[in-house]
Amino acid sequence: MDEVYRVIQEDIQTIIEELCEFKGKITDKTFLVTGGAGFLGSWFCDILNVFGARVICLDNLSSGSKKNIKHLTKNKNFKFINADVCSFNTHEKIDYIAHLASIASPPLYQKFPVQTLDANVIGTRNMLELARRNDIKSFLFTSTSEIYGNPPDEAIPTPESYYGYVNPYGQRSMYDEGKRAAESYCYSYFIKYNLPIRIARIFNTYGPRLDIKSTSQYGRVIIKFIYQALNNKPITVYGDGKQTRSFCYITDQMEGLFKLFMTPKINGEVVNIGNSEEISILRLARKVKKLTKSNSKITFQPLPPDDPRRRCPDLTKAKKLLNFKPKVSLQKGLKRMIDWQKRIR
Ligand code: UDP
Repeated sequence: MDEVYRVIQEDIQTIIEELCEFKGKITDKTFLVTGGAGFLGSWFCDILNVFGARVICLDNLSSGSKKNIKHLTKNKNFKFINADVCSFNTHEKIDYIAHLASIASPPLYQKFPVQTLDANVIGTRNMLELARRNDIKSFLFTSTSEIYGNPPDEAIPTPESYYGYVNPYGQRSMYDEGKRAAESYCYSYFIKYNLPIRIARIFNTYGPRLDIKSTSQYGRVIIKFIYQALNNKPITVYGDGKQTRSFCYITDQMEGLFKLFMTPKINGEVVNIGNSEEISILRLARKVKKLTKSNSKITFQPLPPDDPRRRCPDLTKAKKLLNFKPKVSLQKGLKRMIDWQKRIR
């Protein structure tokens, strides 16, 4: 377990070094992190904890796990609340809200479509109201590249100004349209109440704590391929594998998110956060197989409906506004993920 935690500790240290300019704004302040026991949420809690913030971690454990935050629970500045973001309320004074709560894995949100929509629409409205009552300093909403749907080649890499090509009545709509409605709520509270909201459109992200046990069933692609390769099971490419994604390592993602959350005078901004190194899923499968020295066969399975053909962020705005530029190449990040997987097996 210590060895496992060491990988996370090293990554936390990398993130902290990038963010030290914000320490003064974080120490002793109270942060509500919704979805705080999830993959990204737990990294959020860790970073805030190192900077000496008081953290209220809200999660109903629908996709998050207590395992991700267990090490923080003895800390007097950390409080875990098992409750639903749609109905949660508190009279505690809150300075900042990071609103991450939502199922994000396609097979899982398809299994829980109503909860996914509710967390994003009703949950976001509830958190915005809480923010309003607390005279909050900054409200970060984690939106998604999914709001762009299935962009044509002319919109790749995709800038924030692209409106999206989304199926409102289909397999991904509960997540895509939920996030789009949530963005609209954020915008409305920004213009109506001058609430200091910032929206991150997060592109595919990977790193330690992606849970292989649940992802082997509900599979985000990187962790699933690594798991399959390390166990010499078939690597399951959907469709012809020509669809692309651009994968961002957790340390870069956290740097981008915190910069967006904490940088002064950028209220109301919407920014893509990710990595623009685009790769086809078939090439990803081959790369994972090679790096793990696996004997796994690459097999082909039907492509799920509405699976976006290409996805790659335009990061011009992130660079200009936040001086954000991802540093971890896919090659380097994959090696680190493989190392992590080997340790937790
Ligand atoms: N994918 C795949 N095999 C799998 C799981 C996923 O080929 O076993 C593909 C999936 O169809 C998609 C890409 O990998 O094109 C990324 O899937 P993921 O679920 O990680 O996230 P998405 O970007 O689709 O939300």
